[in-house]
Parts: sequence; C-alpha cells; structure tokens
Amino acid sequence: MSYLENIKVFEEYEKLLNKVSTYITNESEIEMIKKAYEYSAKAHYSEKRLTGEDYIIHPLNVALILTTVRADYETICAGLLHDLIETNDSEYEDIKNNFNETIADLVKGITRINKLNFEGDTQAIIASNRKILVGLTEDVRVIIIKLADRLHNMRTLWAIPEKAQKEKAKETLDILTPIAHRLGIGSLKSELEDLSLRYYKPDIYFSIVEMLNKTKAERDCNVDEMIKSVSEILNNKGIKHKIKGRSKSIYSIYKKLDKGKKFSDIYDLLALRVYVDEVEECYQALGYIHAIYKPMPKRFKDYIAMPKANMYQSLHTTVFGVHSELFEIQIRTYEMDEIAENGIASHWSYKEKGSNTKASLKNTMEQKLQFFKSIMELNDKDASDDEVVNTLKEDVLNSSVYVFTPNGDVIELANGSTPIDFAYRVHTNVGNKMVGAIVNGNIVPLDYKLKDNDIVKINTNNNSKGPSKEWMNIAYTTQAKNKIRSYFNKIDKQEYLKNGEELLKEELRKKKIAFNEFLSTENVNKILTELKYKDLEELYTNLGNNKLPLGTVINIIYNENDTKEDLILKKATNNEVVLPTIKNDIIVRGIDQIKVNVASCCKPVPGDSIVGYITKGNGIAVHRMSCPNVKDVEERIIDVEWNNEISKKYPTSLLIHSSTNKDVLLKIITKTSNSNITVQSINTLNSNDSFAFELVVVVPDLEKLNKFITDINNIPDIIDVERVIK
Ligand code: MN
Repeated sequence: MSYLENIKVFEEYEKLLNKVSTYITNESEIEMIKKAYEYSAKAHYSEKRLTGEDYIIHPLNVALILTTVRADYETICAGLLHDLIETNDSEYEDIKNNFNETIADLVKGITRINKLNFEGDTQAIIASNRKILVGLTEDVRVIIIKLADRLHNMRTLWAIPEKAQKEKAKETLDILTPIAHRLGIGSLKSELEDLSLRYYKPDIYFSIVEMLNKTKAERDCNVDEMIKSVSEILNNKGIKHKIKGRSKSIYSIYKKLDKGKKFSDIYDLLALRVYVDEVEECYQALGYIHAIYKPMPKRFKDYIAMPKANMYQSLHTTVFGVHSELFEIQIRTYEMDEIAENGIASHWSYKEKGSNTKASLKNTMEQKLQFFKSIMELNDKDASDDEVVNTLKEDVLNSSVYVFTPNGDVIELANGSTPIDFAYRVHTNVGNKMVGAIVNGNIVPLDYKLKDNDIVKINTNNNSKGPSKEWMNIAYTTQAKNKIRSYFNKIDKQEYLKNGEELLKEELRKKKIAFNEFLSTENVNKILTELKYKDLEELYTNLGNNKLPLGTVINIIYNENDTKEDLILKKATNNEVVLPTIKNDIIVRGIDQIKVNVASCCKPVPGDSIVGYITKGNGIAVHRMSCPNVKDVEERIIDVEWNNEISKKYPTSLLIHSSTNKDVLLKIITKTSNSNITVQSINTLNSNDSFAFELVVVVPDLEKLNKFITDINNIPDIIDVERVIK
C-alpha cells in the first residue's frame, strides 16, 4: 500500500471509513468503497493538485463530504472515482467492469456536467443553466456529487488565480447554491455560500467576520445564559431536549446588510436551536418559552404545519430573552433537523433497508428525481425565481416598521414606506387629498422613509387637486401604488369618455348625419349588441382611447349585413395605411386596432413567411405560409408582415430524430449556448428503434433558428431536424 505512505492521505482515508461505518453496515458495500479508494488512488498516483497535495486528497474529501449527507455506497464510490473518466469510453467500461453500471453511470454523469460551461449574467440565462444542469441529470445523486465536488474545490480555491476564483464563486452562487437550497441540503448550501462570498466579495466578507469577532465574547455569554434558562424551563416541564447556540452564516448576514439593515439591527445574531423528540413537544416547548419570554410580534413562523417547498420544517420565533436581548429560537425534532441539513439526501440508503433489490432501488431513485424535477419546475411555472419569491415574502413578514397615528393607533407598514404609503393605508381619501406630512412634529418631504415609533400626521386639503403622478415613484407599498394608479385611471376614463362622444359627433357632422337620428334607441341597441358593450359610456370610452375605430360604429348602422369580421375584411381590401399593431411585432395591412395572435399549430418566428387568418371573433391568427391549417379559407386570409424591429423572442417547436439517445441531448443543448437561443422544454419521444426529441426553443428570428438547425444537423447521430406543425 505504497500510496498510503502519505500520512495525510492515510488519515483522511481512516476518517472516511469511520464515517461510513456509522451508517453503512453492509460489509460488501464497505468493501466496494475500499476498492473504489484503492482504484482511484492507483489511478491518480503521482498526480498533484494545484494546492501541492496528492490528487487523491480531492476525491477522498468529496467522499467525506458525501458522508455528511449520508450518501449511499454507490454515491460514495462514484465520489471517489469522479475524476477518472477523461475522454474515452474504455475508462467507463473499466469502472463498469470493476464496480457496477450504476457507479459507472454516476461517474459519467458527473464528468458530463463538469464539461458544461455555465457563463452568462442575465437572470434568464442563469435560470436556464440551472435547468439544463438538472435536465441533463438522469440521477439526482449526480447533482449531489457535483455539490460535494464543488464544495471541496471551493475549500481549496485559494490555490487558483484570483480571476478564476471570482468566476467559480459567482457560478457557485448563481447555479449551485440555489439547487442545493431547493434540494433542501442546508449543510452544503450554507458552506458553499460562505466560501463563495469570501472569494466573490472578499471586502464585505472579511468586514462581517471582523464585526462578528468584535462582538463574539458578549454574544457567546448571552447565548450561554439563555441556553441555560431555556433548558431549565423545559426540564421543569419534563421535556427531553437538546439546545445548541447557533451562529448565523456570514452569507445570511451579508444578505440582510445588502437589504439595507444595519449590523446592530440584525437581532437574530443571537440564535439558538432546540431539538426535541416529538412534534407535539415542539409546540409545547414553544408555549413554555413564550410564557416566560415575551415573543416579538410577527416573528413567529410555523414551518411544521406549513413546510417549505424543500421540505424544511421547524418552528421559528423571536423572543425578548435574558438581558432583554432579542433571541431567534428554532424548535424542531431530530428528524426535521436531518431533513433541514441533508434534504433530499436524507431520504435514501439507511431508511431503505429491505428494499435493496436493484429494481426497487432504481424505482425509488426515479421517484426522487421526479420529485427533484418538480421542485425545479415549480419555479419555472410562475416565471419567478423561488429565491425572489422568498425574499419578497421575507420583506413582507420581517421588514416592517411600526408607526403611530396622532391618536396613538399603531400602523404596520413595509420597511421603506413613506408618508404617502401611510396616508393611503389610513384611507384612500386621506391619500388623495394629502398636501403634506408631519413626522414627530416636523414637516418632512413626501419621500421620507418612516422609522419605527414615528408619529405621523397627514395634512389634507379638500381643495387638493389630487395625487401627482410622481407619487407612483415615491410610494413603496403596492397598495398605495394601486390606489394612486386607480385614481388616474378614473381621471383618464372621464377624459376618454368626453373625447369619444366628441369624436363621434364630429364624424357624424362630417357625414351629415344627425346625431339624434344616429343614436335612436333602436340604433343604440343594435350597436351595443353588436359590440357587446353594456352602455353608451363604454362605447364612448372605447372610441375615446382609440380602441374602437369610428368607422366600425357607423358601419354597424349603415351596413347592416356586415359582421365585425366582415368589416375588417372590407377595411383590409381598401388599404393604404400600414400601421404597426399589437406589440408592434406584426403589421396587419390597413388595420390598426385588432387583436393579433401567433398560431400555436405552426409557431412562426420573425423572418418566417406569414399569413393572417381572420378568426371568428378572436382577432387575427398569424400562421406560417406553409401551415396546412389555413389552406381552404381564402376569403379569410389577410396580409400580415413582421415589423422591422421585433421586440420579443418567439417560441417554436423542433422535432429532432436521432439514431441514439446517448449524450445527444447534451450536445444539442450545448449548441444553444452560442446562439442566443433558449430551450423552453424538452420532450423525449422514444419508440422501439428510434429516438426523437421535441424541443420548444425561444428564438429571436429565423436566421438564428436556421443556424441552430444546421448546427444540430451537423451533430453525428442526428438523422433529421424538422419544424413541427400540429
Ligand atoms: Mn473534482
């Protein structure tokens, strides 16, 4: 065992075996891990890392990290072997023959995603990179090995050049920690975040460390005292428990500072965590603690009754504790703690004894992957990042200011609120008639940021002309903004109403039609029925804001047989004007006020030859010229064209036939990264002897799409690419 000469390697290896034996009992599985170590050590023999250490230290540490989330033996073996497939298939075959297919596949999976280059800065690219990483992973364990691999690389990041350090750190924060978060692997997530911050924003990182050090002795002393006190409370009630002081991660402090909080205001710096056996005891413990230490309002959260999407459960509360200091207390069972630290990883191996036939194991892994994907999709559907949603939620729940009316009533507002928000919270009319604000006896500007305990008096004047549009930018809360907006909508509506009536009168005057004759009861009924309006007011408003062409109204009375669509047809044939229409992307000849939709059967993109089809009552559907769905309806066809300046990207479907499904998807996805094309969804359609993928891609124009299609066609194994028409 010559490669064990190195004492450090030997120690790490011993550590690994010790950790493994705490939860893996099957002898043959442990033998397999030992074998993987020997195999890897031999293969990496004489290789060095940039840190100067023997290379084997890296896979050993990856395996060690994997034991902290209690990974199963196959994952640990793959962790030890993860850097061994370089280029050729023979390495894969070797691992498969020496170990098993699952382990070889895991190693191959990690090699594959390590080859991806995740660059890009916009939220959309970052989100799509995350999605690609997940989408290409057939086994969730690959992602967990990737997280462990990255964690050890981050721990030794000092060894690489500064520029590369920053890039790795940013990539980790953008792509990997959100995945760790969604998988609920708190232990890996928080160390990855702290390490990333240390390299990505070293100034901030070290200033936080320094602030923490300065206050450490005092904090420790307070926390110890509080632990003793809480422990006594629970002992008196006979609740078996364990309590730990908890230090906030540096990254979480950074996020709070970044949101504008002062270091001295981050009160949950004093934090402890109570562990109990049973769920009921969580609530009992909470009650007993609240009975002695007054809880802070609005800070209690019950994640037991309502677990987070990543399965996290705990009770959170903040209390006025010893020396009137604020303490954040988390209460959870040991099982909840396991899930909080290890997330999805806590659900395998040791809990699945007795189900270790290969088929059932594969089945459970697939279920996990399914679960895992559903977590990722959750985030795509509402098109907003989970993190963002959480931050918003936290803004609402945590960052409130409490201010007083002159009568002493408390009003809670989001942190960042101004007197305008206050006024609209009191009453819409107070807001609309506000002319100034007095805080604590002093006149303040309207963009003044309210603070806790401010006493706010709003000056109103009944002759006030109402809010100014500028207030929309000053107000902080959505509530106030909505109220200001609706005030202006009402004003605008009155304006439109007046304009509309005048426009109609003028047009009738030109046509020498008497206004009263035109608007006879009979005619009015006809017009309202035809346009599905409820009264003349609606008619005038729509005329006034140009949603309804005057001609349409007049034609209803004087061309009785024409339907709305017929009128459009007529208008289209005597065209002179070309006006950009809806969203300005598609121009309909001669018509400026009609709904335009892109047909979902053939999904045209800018640059495609297109044709408009006048639907029954749903505006114009734009199809590709070649779309068979529009063939037989010539009288409903209308000229449309793409605008020169397109504002959006458009989705379209591709059907890709391939002779194999090995790695093809990866190669296809890789082609998107250099072409300003994003993949919206992938559907694999495998039949017995052929493979096909349906890809929905979002593209800027036909040229880019055609280049992408050519790129795909050039991939070996690809038989054909076609655009889908349904
Ligand atoms: Mn590695």
